[in-house]
Amino acid sequence: MVAESSKPLSFAQSPFMNVTEILHHLISFPVLGGQVNSSIASWIENYLTQNGVAFVNVWNEEKTKRCIHCRIGPAIDGGVILSGHMDVVPVDGQDWTYPPFELTDPGDGKLYGRGTSDMKGYVACCLSLVPEMMVADLKRPIYLALSFDEEIGCRSGQMLANHMRDYYEEKPAFAIIGEPTMLHGFNCQKGIVVYKTSLNGINAHSSKIMEKVSAIHESARLITWLEDKMHELIGNGHIDHRFVPPHTTFHVGTFEKSGTQFNIVSDSASFMWEIRNIPMDSIAGLFGEFEAFCREREVICQQKFPDFRIVNEEIHDEVPSLDTPEESRVVELIRTITGNHAIKSAAYAAEAGQFQRAGFEAIICGPGDIDQAHKADEFISKDQLQKGVGMIRKLIEISC
Ligand SMILES: [Zn+2]
Repeated sequence: MVAESSKPLSFAQSPFMNVTEILHHLISFPVLGGQVNSSIASWIENYLTQNGVAFVNVWNEEKTKRCIHCRIGPAIDGGVILSGHMDVVPVDGQDWTYPPFELTDPGDGKLYGRGTSDMKGYVACCLSLVPEMMVADLKRPIYLALSFDEEIGCRSGQMLANHMRDYYEEKPAFAIIGEPTMLHGFNCQKGIVVYKTSLNGINAHSSKIMEKVSAIHESARLITWLEDKMHELIGNGHIDHRFVPPHTTFHVGTFEKSGTQFNIVSDSASFMWEIRNIPMDSIAGLFGEFEAFCREREVICQQKFPDFRIVNEEIHDEVPSLDTPEESRVVELIRTITGNHAIKSAAYAAEAGQFQRAGFEAIICGPGDIDQAHKADEFISKDQLQKGVGMIRKLIEISC
């Protein structure tokens, strides 16, 4: 239902739009994670072109989706990457008061629409200052980096970050990932990776269980191994109090089997699971240990059933954790341009770890509140949006 007094806002496109006008346009593209993003990408590219900014695309393999990056200012080492994502999460099943894909101002100091906080508000702040960046006498460059499919597992962040590292001869120093943090710097986040593990077994009467291999029984061993590993890490002092909970977690979320009934040995099973790691624990290392255990079980079970296999597949690429020291220069930069000194930890995965892995000092900092993200009636307060503009304007100032 749409409140009668609150008409969606409407503006035409021009090279000199304010942040609200740009946000209005960005919100009108209902591009979800996983979907073709040419509508919103073209609009942004058109805006950049109108402002005289040359941009570069980084495409997915099928050439259906693209990232955008560009540099404004001198071709010299240093400078800051402003990183955002163009996709949003779905609104299905959510009870919205306002039309989710039309920016609405009901007069309560907030602007409503899907993506206002996460994170088109930040993208609008950055874009609205492109004309000022173009006329400023920048001594260090400012880069824009816009990704797709962030909301379904940060799928393009690494390729975008790597492309920027390789494309520009001169190296940017910092990356500010504008997830909604109420403009506080978040210098660490956990990593995440999702796997599917599939096992086979052999059908037989259940009374033969000692001679056969049950896919369900073997799955149970693997799942218990994962849970035991979590406790082992905690017991060994792998604790990082910047996070809640302060340790790496393992979780199995689905279990599927095609066995038939209680008295038939099961011939197949699969389960999906995740690791959310604190920076001190390496996903590659932990997964390597799990793999080794799988190979051990294979050898044992193949004595009874030679075709027994355990197959692990990564459902999407690892999203690396972020661990930027509090004394690093990017933390100093964020304190300078936001005036906010407290540094916090993110409870969610974002592209910051991917930019760090590509060699940039990365931090998460953007306008709006993560509490509004992914919900019905997502909004950004006008105050946060203006403060977001203020942050980027301050960055321009200190880059001159
Ligand atoms: Zn986001």
